[in-house]
Amino acid sequence: MRETHLAAGRCASALALSLGFLAPVAAAQSTGGGGGGVYVATPKISTVTCVRSCASKARAQGGSTIKLAGSGLASAAKVIFNGSYGHGDDLSVPVRPGSDSTLSVRVPVGAVSGPVTVVTAQSAKSKPTAPIAILPPPPPAPNPVLSIVPGLRSDSALRIETGTSRTRAYVGARRAVTFSYRVTGAMATPPTVDLVRASDGVAVKSWAPDTVGSGEVQSISWDGRLGRGSAKPGRYSFRLTAASAAGAEVRTAQAGDAERDAFDLYDNIFPVRGRHDFGGAGADFGSGRAGRSHQGQDVFAKCGTPLVAARGGTLKFKQYHASAGNYVVIDAAGTELAYTYMHLAEPTPFRPGDRVYTGQRIGSVGDTGNADGCHLHFELWTPPGWYDGGKPFDPLPSLQAWDTWS
Ligand SMILES: [Zn+2]
Repeated sequence: MRETHLAAGRCASALALSLGFLAPVAAAQSTGGGGGGVYVATPKISTVTCVRSCASKARAQGGSTIKLAGSGLASAAKVIFNGSYGHGDDLSVPVRPGSDSTLSVRVPVGAVSGPVTVVTAQSAKSKPTAPIAILPPPPPAPNPVLSIVPGLRSDSALRIETGTSRTRAYVGARRAVTFSYRVTGAMATPPTVDLVRASDGVAVKSWAPDTVGSGEVQSISWDGRLGRGSAKPGRYSFRLTAASAAGAEVRTAQAGDAERDAFDLYDNIFPVRGRHDFGGAGADFGSGRAGRSHQGQDVFAKCGTPLVAARGGTLKFKQYHASAGNYVVIDAAGTELAYTYMHLAEPTPFRPGDRVYTGQRIGSVGDTGNADGCHLHFELWTPPGWYDGGKPFDPLPSLQAWDTWS
């Protein structure tokens, strides 16, 4: 069996920086009161290896089995896939360790590239590993236009057609995804639509219209948000439930086809929409500059390559600066992170205060200001934002993850 080491060394120090605001790593704990305490070692992970159903060399995917090797793993209770920046995409998987030195865990569908952490029943946490590359699952089969739902009972008095606009959607897009349906026949009550999360089958959102006539086409658009927050990245599907006048209940999706009306939700889109590369060492975060260090990652592409908002939000700054050239700062909705784009060929047409959607074009790659070749200089800042109390952190792991799916 071929085993491939996944953890890359280059990001380790930057990782510590980008995760610096997360919960502190717990020290070895002693628990138990009264008599002698029970010593519980803090788990340590030294290597991560993909051992089964791996996507390719050095890459795992949803459904792969990865093996963690290290020490203090016998008391592990769960493994957290930390994903990209912040907690919004974290996925926790309960585990039963086989030994103190190794632990196998399945990569959940919807897990995003990033470090993993082992947590014990006593809440002791390992340090996060270097980022693990996790390939997104292949997209579900599309059914973008209304078509008859297969697999429903043939004696049903209702005829149901559904369609879902896309199989890949982004948080913060104007209309991330649209579900359309038409129910023909005598209904006892208006149909309801649930948005079902594939990882656990939970209906995370529901729509219940007051009236729906037989044969009327209805549409629901969802922007990837749940209440005030964003839904976790991963696979979702729309499920329509209708009851015929005779009392029979009919449900679409998960009936005969698990991919029916399904789509994958992503939290960011890669901002440079054309051929690109990440340059040499001088393009990295933290590389030397005269009297300072590089606060972002450079992404090289031809001048004029379309530039889109990786994550929608509110445009905070739009200015020209001798070094940065034409630049834009967007406060990402729902994350409190600031996204900065520099050296744009022309000033962005947006103004401060404007709402920008994920994937919306904000300009073109250029070389304005102090730029050596056409490129995007991209920065990510921790809350509360750009020169507002936040700090820049290495955006490369995030950019690389976004690059795998968009
Ligand atoms: Zn730069």
